[in-house]
Amino acid sequence: MRIFDPHIHMTSRTTDDYRAMAAAGVRAVVEPAFWLGQPRTNPGSFADYFDSLIGWEPYRAGQFGIRHHATIALNPKEANDPRCRPVLDLLPRYLDKDGVVAVGEIGYDSMTPEEDEAFAAQLALAVEYELPALVHTPHRDKARGTERTLAVVAESGIGPGRVVVDHLNEVTVAAVHDAGCWMGFSIYPETKMSPPRMVEILKEHGLDRVLVNSAADWGHSDPLLTRATGEAMLAAGFTDDDVDKVLWRNPVEFYGQSGRLDLSDLGPAADTFEGSSIKRGGS
Ligand SMILES: [Zn+2]
Repeated sequence: MRIFDPHIHMTSRTTDDYRAMAAAGVRAVVEPAFWLGQPRTNPGSFADYFDSLIGWEPYRAGQFGIRHHATIALNPKEANDPRCRPVLDLLPRYLDKDGVVAVGEIGYDSMTPEEDEAFAAQLALAVEYELPALVHTPHRDKARGTERTLAVVAESGIGPGRVVVDHLNEVTVAAVHDAGCWMGFSIYPETKMSPPRMVEILKEHGLDRVLVNSAADWGHSDPLLTRATGEAMLAAGFTDDDVDKVLWRNPVEFYGQSGRLDLSDLGPAADTFEGSSIKRGGS
């Protein structure tokens, strides 16, 4: 099983995670820029983070045979902090970089006027830089947040096929499907979306325009839940080809729209990767 995790925050994960992911078949990831738990207080802090997402983290991933790309943005939560908003002026420099395959995560956290402004400005950047957009939906008041998200996307003029609306569930999937956007699902260990629930959504809505991710970060999360979802699909009667479409070809198609996705020379097939020699990082 080859797996492309289209949304995972590797900055917060260990080399043990990289090793386990490689053994499970993960061969490519996209790491969206997001908040880091501790609030940042100045744009320089973002610049260092963005540099890490396009420099250090791809190097770290590469040591485990995993290809790493990033998305860059001012996240919705920190868009509310006037000390962070000048980050918007830094973005053009990063949106020009090779390893950057989308603008994201953008969207809503608390649906404030400040978030409205940052969201619209960054969708405009996505149009200008001809990049897809990764849109986070709020975990509170998700239905209203998703509805408002789709309205702002429609207003921006970006093609809906270039937008993934992420962290969906049974309540929000239909509206995103009907809008023509890509549907992102984050599979979590306890709360929210689980592999069995994901399988039911795939049965009902089909496999097109669906991205399944672990969204693993510094909170309670599991970078192997993409694999668990593939196993749950097989157990439910989906074919190997169906699993390959959802866990590999769909993310390749979505992020491929950037024209910057580089999956060349990925090395041995994932299923034979375990046991091969893995270069160690650090000293
Ligand atoms: Zn995220």
